[in-house]
Amino acid sequence: MRLFGMRKFRTQLTLIITLIVLATILLISILANTFINMEFEEYAKKQQQIRASELAENLSHQYNSASGTWNTEYVHGVGMAALYDGYILRLTDARGNVVWDAENHDMEACSQVMMEIINRMEEKRPGLSGGFVSQAYALKQNGQVIGSVVVGSYGPYFLKESDFRFLDSLNLVLVIIGSLVLFCSVIIAGFLARRVSRPIIKTAHIAKQIADGNYNIRFSGQPKTQELDELVTAVNHMAASLKKQEGLRRRLTTDVAHELRTPLTAVSSHLEAIIEGVWEPTNERLQSCYEEIGRISGLVSDLERLAKVENENLRLEKSDVDLLELVHIVAGNFESESQKKSILLTVEGAKTPVPADKDRLNQVLANLLSNAIKYTPKNGKIHVSVKSTDKSGMITVTDNGIGVPEKDLPFLFERFYRTDSSRNRSTGGAGIGLAIAKSIVHAHGGTITVESKVGQGSRFIVALPK
Ligand code: ADP
Repeated sequence: MRLFGMRKFRTQLTLIITLIVLATILLISILANTFINMEFEEYAKKQQQIRASELAENLSHQYNSASGTWNTEYVHGVGMAALYDGYILRLTDARGNVVWDAENHDMEACSQVMMEIINRMEEKRPGLSGGFVSQAYALKQNGQVIGSVVVGSYGPYFLKESDFRFLDSLNLVLVIIGSLVLFCSVIIAGFLARRVSRPIIKTAHIAKQIADGNYNIRFSGQPKTQELDELVTAVNHMAASLKKQEGLRRRLTTDVAHELRTPLTAVSSHLEAIIEGVWEPTNERLQSCYEEIGRISGLVSDLERLAKVENENLRLEKSDVDLLELVHIVAGNFESESQKKSILLTVEGAKTPVPADKDRLNQVLANLLSNAIKYTPKNGKIHVSVKSTDKSGMITVTDNGIGVPEKDLPFLFERFYRTDSSRNRSTGGAGIGLAIAKSIVHAHGGTITVESKVGQGSRFIVALPK
C-alpha cells in the first residue's frame, strides 16, 4: 500500500491518525486480554486448591468416631456433586479400605466428566498440555487420622464452560469498545484533517493565482495554527512584494524609455534640421548633440555599473578599512564641488575599522555625498559622522537639502527611482546611484536606510558589520 506517496494531505492525516488509534486499540486489547487471562488462570488454580481442601474438610465430618462408621449417604452426595464439578474423589478409611470411590461408583459418569474437561481444555487452551492429577489429603478428627481422600482434577488448572463464556464476553466487550473508538477516531481524524488542510488548500490556490500574475489576491481570515498563520502571512507578503516589484518593473521600463527618449529626440531633431539645411552645423549645435549623446552613454554605463554590482557574484576584496579615514578621503574629493555651492561639508567621528572592500565602499560614500550636494541648495550644510557600535560601524550622511516625500521613501533604493522633484530638475542622475549603494552594502551584509522630511533634509545611515 502506498501510504506516504503523493496523496492528499487530508487523506494522509486521516490515515495516520486512524493507524495510530488502531495500533493503540490493538495494543490495549492484547495487553488487557493477556492480563485478564493470566489473572483468571491464577484465580482458577487457587479456587481448585480451596475447593479440594474444602471437600477434605467436609468429608472429615462424616465419620462417626463412636461407631467407627461413615455417613456413606452424605459422602455419596458430596462425591457426586464434586464429580459434576470436575473433582473425582476416592475416600479410604484409616486402614486403607475404600469407603467411597467415584470411579468404582459410576465409571461412565467419571469418564464422561473427564473427557468433557479434557476436550474443553485442549480446545480452548491447546498449549497448556495438562492432564488429570491427584492429590491426597489426610482426614483427621480431634488430631487422629480417620482416613484419607484423594482428589483428582485437571491440572495445572481447569475452567468451566461458564468461565470460558465469561472470558469470551469480556473479549467481545473489548472488540465492541475498540470498534466504537476506531469509528469515532476516523470521524474526528477526518474532521481535524479537513480543518488543517483547508487553509493549506486555500493558500495553494492563492499561490497559484499569484503565479499566474494576480498580485492583488490575498488570504483573508486568520488560521488558528501558528505555522499555517506564518505560511499565510508569507504568501500574502510575497504577493505584496511581487506587486511592488511588478510596479517597479513597469516604472523601470517607462523610466528607461523616458531617459533615452529625451536626449534621442534632441539629437535627432538637431541633426534633422542640419540635414535639411534649416540649421547651420555650427560648433555649438554639434557640441549640444555631442552632450546629448554623452547623456545617453552615461545612462548606458550607469546601467552597466549597476548590472555589475547587482551581479550575484559581486566579489568583495575585503581588508580592514577605517571608516573615518575613508570618509575623510571621499569628503576631500567633494570639497571643490561643495565649495562651488557654498555648502559646508563637515566630518566627525572616531576610528572605526571594519572588514570591507575599500573601493566599493568609496563608491557608496561618493554616491551619498554627490546626492547630498546635488539635492542641497546653496549655503546648505552636509555633515558626515562615523561611529562604532557593538556589532557594526556606522556612517551617517546628513544634509539640510530638499528632502524626500514620505511616499517615495520606500522606493528610493530601487533602480531608476527618482522623486518627482528631482525628475523635473536637470540635476543629472538616472536614479541608479542609491541602487548601486544598496547592492554594495548588502553584499557586505550591512544595511542602508534613509530618514527624510521634505524641505528639512535627509539622513542616510549605512551600517556595516564588524
Ligand atoms: P540620482 O542619480 O537620480 O541621484 P539616486 O539613486 O542616487 O539617483 O537617487 C535616487 C533619487 O533619490 C534621486 O533622484 C532623488 O530624488 C532622491 N535623493 C537621493 N539622495 C537625496 C538627498 N540627499 N536629498 C534628497 N533627495 C535625494
